[in-house]
Amino acid sequence: MRPLASLISLAVMIASPVSAEALRCENPLVTVKADDPAFAAQVCELVANASRQLNACHLKRTYPLTIRVLRDASDMAEACLGSYNCKISQIDVLHPDTLPETFVDESPYGEMDTMVYFNSLLMHELAHSAFEQLPCESEACTAEQEYIAYAMQLASLPDADRQIILDAKPVSFTVTLESLNSTIAMMAPTAFAARVWEHYSMPENGCDFIGKIIDGKVSLRNDRF
Ligand SMILES: [Zn+2]
Repeated sequence: MRPLASLISLAVMIASPVSAEALRCENPLVTVKADDPAFAAQVCELVANASRQLNACHLKRTYPLTIRVLRDASDMAEACLGSYNCKISQIDVLHPDTLPETFVDESPYGEMDTMVYFNSLLMHELAHSAFEQLPCESEACTAEQEYIAYAMQLASLPDADRQIILDAKPVSFTVTLESLNSTIAMMAPTAFAARVWEHYSMPENGCDFIGKIIDGKVSLRNDRF
């Protein structure tokens, strides 16, 4: 029993130092920091829904997680709309009100309702956070990480919103594992996302394929980034 007890005390220790604007979700492993308590509660709900989808796809988070909702893009740890820092188990994501400021011309994501887009970004980062705690056979794992994150992100979208992404980057070939590589993931993320969906949505793939990635039964090509 001792290791479990130690783990629980560690979990409490990590999650405890919460500031005034932080909200512990019903799932005690998750803390949300946002400037608006009502919105923080809404994010807790979104995380609960997302976790059901992730759990059904072999992606169960077992460690504490903090989610910071930021209004200023310059406060983000990385120059992106959402990020996950595995060292401190923290997701940063931009507030839906700020997201429209970040869209470059003709971004397909700009056609979506901002809350729908926010929810999908959150799902992307939650998938990263769940996968990060699992062992990965490949040294870099970038392609596997992004496959899982985009599969879960696109699965979280209503059909019409997902179609916006698929129409923006039509896939005109049969998606091979070779074509789901880390170079595309980093250099052309929307095209990568469309390829992932094409592959993930085939009946023989889906959560079974994600399970194979997790078990190290398949690997994607990882260039060094
Ligand atoms: Zn990602």
